[in-house]
Amino acid sequence: MQFFTHYFLHLLFPLFISLVFFRPRWIKAYLILLATMIIDMDHLLASPIFSANRCSIGFHPLHTSYAALVYAAGLLLPKWIRIVAIGLLLHLLTDLIDCLWMYQSCRECIANQQVAQLLDWFSW
Ligand SMILES: [Zn+2]
Repeated sequence: MQFFTHYFLHLLFPLFISLVFFRPRWIKAYLILLATMIIDMDHLLASPIFSANRCSIGFHPLHTSYAALVYAAGLLLPKWIRIVAIGLLLHLLTDLIDCLWMYQSCRECIANQQVAQLLDWFSW
């Protein structure tokens, strides 16, 4: 279920957003939304690059709350930048949902990470 939700939000939900909100140029909007996944390149700065129980939110530079503020400011800018901002914020939301799932199954795994307090606030 976590895998399905993750890829649905990364690949199919942007298609839905493109078709509903950017109908005349939905293909261009969809490609821009997909291109925002490039922020995952910041994972290459981490060592190790992949760690199964690491939450990317609050860890990687383009996945921090400061970055989210910059992306949110992009919502106020002209249309194509707004589409990029929507894609970046959706990406962070998708990763946050992933972290929440991770946190539910192994709280100790994330307990020492910066995002733990935020996940505590969201978790049930
Ligand atoms: Zn990510």
